[in-house]
Amino acid sequence: MCEVLIVGGGIMGLWAAVMAGRAGFTTRLLERWRIGSGASGGFLGALMPHMPDRWNEKKQFQFDALVSLEGEIAELEAATGLSAGYRRSGRVMPIGRAHLREIAHGRERDAAQNWRGPAHQYLWQVGHADEGGWPAADAAPFGIVQDTLAARVAPRNLLAVLRAALDQFPHVQCEEGAEVVSIEPARGRLLLADGRALTFDRLILAAGVASFGFIDGLTQPRRSASGGAVKGQAALFRADVDKALPIIFTEGLYIVPHENGQVAVGSTSESRFDDPNFTDRQLDALLARAIDIAPVLRSATVIERWAGLRPRATGLEPMVGRHPDHERLFVLTGGFKVSFGLAHALARSVVEEIAGGGMNALPESFQCAHHVAALR
Ligand SMILES: Cc1cc2nc3c(=O)[nH]c(=O)nc-3n(C[C@H](O)[C@H](O)[C@H](O)COP(=O)(O)OP(=O)(O)OC[C@H]3O[C@@H](n4cnc5c(N)ncnc54)[C@H](O)[C@@H]3O)c2cc1C
Repeated sequence: MCEVLIVGGGIMGLWAAVMAGRAGFTTRLLERWRIGSGASGGFLGALMPHMPDRWNEKKQFQFDALVSLEGEIAELEAATGLSAGYRRSGRVMPIGRAHLREIAHGRERDAAQNWRGPAHQYLWQVGHADEGGWPAADAAPFGIVQDTLAARVAPRNLLAVLRAALDQFPHVQCEEGAEVVSIEPARGRLLLADGRALTFDRLILAAGVASFGFIDGLTQPRRSASGGAVKGQAALFRADVDKALPIIFTEGLYIVPHENGQVAVGSTSESRFDDPNFTDRQLDALLARAIDIAPVLRSATVIERWAGLRPRATGLEPMVGRHPDHERLFVLTGGFKVSFGLAHALARSVVEEIAGGGMNALPESFQCAHHVAALR
């Protein structure tokens, strides 16, 4: 019997294990294949803020998470001696139409008001693309917006840092190749594909897209499914690009410079697909756009093409916290496109709830109970 059992070894499950370990719970994480074999095992790693206008509790929660992540990662890197490839490199967004420049100017004032961290004021500034071609001047006919809040991390490196951090807790265990086939929250018991039965006091369901099948089975009655998968494709270049350059972001296209001469480009967004792992012409089209916007990529080599399934809750927000029908069941999924910037804060919130505290100011629309009410 362990106090906290976690299903899923992606970014959500690993942060949950770290937070549970810090809280002193005997913890066991079960991963059906290997750590990072789901959506978290990609390489894009953009940590993107919301727009600074029309501020609300969700934006504040995400802002606080993006600000605090830097310190969280630094602490884990110091403890493990590994690097997560994190840098607050900022973001540059080409402005494609004249009227958008006016709107962008308005957001400078919003950022001055809303993007204030405990020790730092983050900026949103309207300017002009320079001669350096990052982005190409003709891709930014009405200038650019540059912000200093966005950051990037190397997802696989961060998973390795988190995994190594777990090894330092004597009371946390991590098991790969352990597929959960059924969960019985009322009995505090689950069954594994290899026939074993394990018992738990509290269970955190962080199985990415697979979470929704479990949630649906445990949520009766309900009118619709709790969530589904949105496929994404991305590519990794080896390129002669300064690792300190900002992320370029425009209309769903991310160009993210990383360490070691690597630049990640993503992502498609596909609600319908045949093969979750296959990359195809949609990725080719995205790469062609990336080369137009960042011409230095024309001479770069693609070293990996990758596809994964993002977990998106029907309520479109992360789905987090105690399930209203099951005292022992806690959900931690639905991070969709922004999991990497939020996972530590969401996981902390779940572990605080398990420990009997509040929910760390978790926005109401993120709470599992709110999602479940909307499904009925
Ligand atoms: C192309 C692409 C680009 C992306 N870019 C970004 C980005 O730039 N920034 C960002 O923040 N997010 C990005 N995302 C989204 C992000 O990757 C996901 O939201 C995030 O990885 C989800 O993490 P997770 O832990 O919820 O799920 P996963 O990483 O999918 O982890 C779930 C784990 O649970 C395991 N599991 C499933 N079922 C079981 C079971 N029955 N028993 C045991 N284990 C089980 C799986 O094997 C998996 O390892 C991107 C996604 C894609 C596809």
